[in-house]
Amino acid sequence: MRPSIHHIAIAVRDMDAALALYGEALGLEVSARREVPEEGVEIAFLPAGDGEIELIRPLDTANSVARFLEKRGEGLHHICLKVANLEEALERLRRAGVRTIGEPRTSAAGTRYIFLHPLSTRGVLIELYEER
Ligand code: ZN
Repeated sequence: MRPSIHHIAIAVRDMDAALALYGEALGLEVSARREVPEEGVEIAFLPAGDGEIELIRPLDTANSVARFLEKRGEGLHHICLKVANLEEALERLRRAGVRTIGEPRTSAAGTRYIFLHPLSTRGVLIELYEER
């Protein structure tokens, strides 16, 4: 199985304004919107084909999304690719010289994920997902 786009995450400062654009103006449907206090962010999901657009807004100034906005402004934050086997994908990527940010983690929903460092992926933060 080849990787597929799971979601494309966009960092925003104003969720209502972002939803007016991506939802109403672009015509995407909002499937969920919630705050994730443990990660310090509010997120909204807008399915688009087989993948979805994820809007992320920091709830405070201490997390990495807030720092991203401060440094680079609103825009593309990361692309998430779904892979069949995370260990296999990582082995191949590490052989190709790609650096990861930490080690794979498991979400509350049981999804294993890891981020690849943008300095080794041509400037784009890439998240890899393996759904169990
Ligand atoms: Zn993500």
